[in-house]
Amino acid sequence: MRTQVGIVGAGPAGLLLSHLLHLHGIGSVVLEAHSRDYVEKRVRAGVLEQGTVNTLVGTGVGDRLLREGLVHHGIELRFGGRPHRIAFERLVPGRAITIYGQQEVVKDLIAARLAAGGQILFEVSDVVPDDIATACPVISFTHDGHRRRLDCDVIAGCDGSHGVCRAAIPDGALTVFAREYPFAWLGVLAEVPPSADELIYAHSDRGFALHSMRSPSLSRFYLQVDRDEDVAKWPDERFWAELRVRIETVPGWRLRDGPVLEKIVTPMRSFVAEPMRYGSLYLAGDAAHIVPPTGAKGLNLAAFDVGVLTEALAAWYADGSTGLLDEYSATCLRRVWRVQHFSWWMTTLLHTFGDDDGYGRRLQRSQLEYVASSDAAAASLAENYVGLARV
Ligand SMILES: Cc1cc2nc3c(=O)[nH]c(=O)nc-3n(C[C@H](O)[C@H](O)[C@H](O)COP(=O)(O)OP(=O)(O)OC[C@H]3O[C@@H](n4cnc5c(N)ncnc54)[C@H](O)[C@@H]3O)c2cc1C
Repeated sequence: MRTQVGIVGAGPAGLLLSHLLHLHGIGSVVLEAHSRDYVEKRVRAGVLEQGTVNTLVGTGVGDRLLREGLVHHGIELRFGGRPHRIAFERLVPGRAITIYGQQEVVKDLIAARLAAGGQILFEVSDVVPDDIATACPVISFTHDGHRRRLDCDVIAGCDGSHGVCRAAIPDGALTVFAREYPFAWLGVLAEVPPSADELIYAHSDRGFALHSMRSPSLSRFYLQVDRDEDVAKWPDERFWAELRVRIETVPGWRLRDGPVLEKIVTPMRSFVAEPMRYGSLYLAGDAAHIVPPTGAKGLNLAAFDVGVLTEALAAWYADGSTGLLDEYSATCLRRVWRVQHFSWWMTTLLHTFGDDDGYGRRLQRSQLEYVASSDAAAASLAENYVGLARV
């Protein structure tokens, strides 16, 4: 097989890249380890920045997003027994977030690619990117029991944090920056209408809690738990009881509960691999960087990376210019590090740290009070949360 861009991974990064390239007349083949059904049901991110929404709508894959997405003009910080609203409409006029599940974005992109005759090969195995230092890279893989070979001009490694592309880069070529947090998130998807119109980020002495949603009938909740927490230790009753203690802290506010559809534990970490390119291999999305989900940025950053890569490849195919490709890594990393900082800041602000002697807790409280009472501080949070137009 031969294509222009060989894409490993049919997550948001790989699928959006394939879609954007197609709009520029550039061919691609997407190789995905899991089945279509699996990737279309994988519940993960749900907060889309304004820029991500603009990209999806502007490239013709936003019809359902516009119909079903929930546009939010603020979030709530809850601490000290009071709600504090961060009002986007006043602090960052014209910009908002949209709640629309990552699995819905994935469904829309797969449908658009297949309708346009795009090639996505699901359930491939033993994917090996090869000759990545040369101008003729190759991807070998197994599909339908046959070993296949895909020749391409460039490879896009969109295969997430545990994929094979980053691992294919020789030792010493990448510098890795990482931070592990001493806690994880217990994420629960429940069949119950949201208990509030906007997301609630709750800071309490017992740990962080987040009230979020995926649709008018589906709520998403997160609880800070120990890093190596066993999900089996969290039967539904224990989960709801702990969530109530952490989030029902405002007089008169009540949490609705309902049937739990899914429960997972996700360790929190920050990770960046630099540079995001080696020879003919370009890394994008979680394959190059991870942020803790407190800032709701991972999916949005993946969308940004592939937008930059598309522009660079389009220029190269149009007139052979390599300037944008050469700048790809540096352009992306500027935003990556802004987002790394914001995600680390939100995480540090809102979670409890076991080894804190009280000093850290008082700093958190002071910063929370500052954000709640100063428009300057709140505007900084707001513009990072809805997504900076330019970094
Ligand atoms: C619990 C949780 C909550 C989150 N909340 C948010 C949020 O609110 N907002 C936000 O913006 N982000 C959030 N994120 C992060 C977001 O989900 C990721 O950043 C996003 O999925 C990155 O997209 P991606 O395409 O780069 O990687 P992925 O979605 O990981 O996709 C990679 C794809 O590559 C495939 N693959 C892997 N290895 C191979 C291989 N060897 N061969 C072929 N295919 C392979 C995988 O099966 C997968 O389909 C959250 C993440 C988690 C875990």
